[in-house]
Amino acid sequence: MASRKGLFGTNGIRGLVNLDLNNEFITKVTKAIATFIGPEKSLIIGQDTRISGDMVKMNVISVLLSSGINVYDAGIVPTPALQFASKNLGYFGIMITASHNPPEYNGIKCIDYDGTELDELKENIIEDIYFENKIKNLDWKSIGSYNRIENINRNYIEGVLNLIDRNSIKNSNLKVLVDCSNGPSYLTSPFLLKKLNVRYTTINCNPDGYFSGHNPEPKEENLQELMKFTKGNYDLGVAHDGDADRVVFVDENGNFIPGDKILALITKHILKNNKGYIVLPVSASQAVEEVAIKEEGKVVYTRVGAPIIARKMIELNAVFGGEDNGGLIFPEMQYCRDGAMGMAKILEIISKHKKSISDLISELPEYYVKKGSVSVNREDMISIMDTIKSSVKGDRVLDIDGIKVYDGDSWVLIRPSGTEPIIRIYSESKDRKSSENLFRKYKEVVESISKEKQLQTKNK
Ligand code: MG
Repeated sequence: MASRKGLFGTNGIRGLVNLDLNNEFITKVTKAIATFIGPEKSLIIGQDTRISGDMVKMNVISVLLSSGINVYDAGIVPTPALQFASKNLGYFGIMITASHNPPEYNGIKCIDYDGTELDELKENIIEDIYFENKIKNLDWKSIGSYNRIENINRNYIEGVLNLIDRNSIKNSNLKVLVDCSNGPSYLTSPFLLKKLNVRYTTINCNPDGYFSGHNPEPKEENLQELMKFTKGNYDLGVAHDGDADRVVFVDENGNFIPGDKILALITKHILKNNKGYIVLPVSASQAVEEVAIKEEGKVVYTRVGAPIIARKMIELNAVFGGEDNGGLIFPEMQYCRDGAMGMAKILEIISKHKKSISDLISELPEYYVKKGSVSVNREDMISIMDTIKSSVKGDRVLDIDGIKVYDGDSWVLIRPSGTEPIIRIYSESKDRKSSENLFRKYKEVVESISKEKQLQTKNK
């Protein structure tokens, strides 16, 4: 959810380099962040592999130093490695990344002293400082110190290793193909596999700020090479996004595994030994809840967005949480999406069950999902949603984020986009036809309400 005045998006401040994310903007926004932090504090900073990484980072560092903050520069690190360090050191963190966005983008992501992503309340304070010009400038004697900090990636790998059954993986003789998407996981995932005694091969494992291998969004269409080479040659294919907080998988037959299946598989595995809450966005597949109920766990739904899921997990002391895009949160490691931990956990699950990943996936409940959207007038979005809310009926209705209506073992979610003038529709059912029918029915409802609103505006 975008915050009040739109400086922060779902995952920090993002923009096109030298256009919206230009030096003037970076300076002003960093001054607002620095004013929020206050002088004489310690801050750890990292970057992904984008070619604009040094340019953005050096500007940010210069402003932080002038604001009296002591800066520790970690160099190129995955976002979860920086968060892990921030948590362990108790330092505020800044990650220079645009995650899965194309190479022309970059961003500034703030990490709180406990390693979690900054919450909306604190983002709003920074926005107030920025828009109300409450920036504080210091005298020359108060500037901070610049330091390099080593071993952030190594400590992160050790952190994962401490929480995984290494013996089980070691004895299973697994072969893995890992695609680092030319991002910072080239410094962590291959070394983690090596320590786990897994035989592995890498692709796109060179740092390349142009993302020459493929677009760094780990979607099926971007991972054709990984799928092709995994088929028949490896037990598992693994891919990270551009800053390695996410991880997705390909089975030994070269099939891309949908993210909701991975959520369900990990939920099943974790609940076997540790009963508790599983936290999911309201858009998550019913398959995960079905598995959780069977294993005597309890699912709690939140608004869409990893930081929101993580906050709810802290509140409930949940045992696992995540999103269907490969964002997996393991509370024993840290309260944020963690690509390396996700990879190690799936290897642990395969090795413990002594089954192929495709067999493990085929044991999970099968649901059919249909996703799409309807374009609407931006000014009508709220009133369209209000009309839908007052008219829908179902066995169970959730209005956490948009409106989710259950009908037997089917459901539909109607959700306005936070960034575009569209209303998204997701439907899910045990059979394909019911899912498609449900989708069509609600698409027509949204379209007809939208048309009505347009006519009303015209006749005004
Ligand atoms: Mg990411």
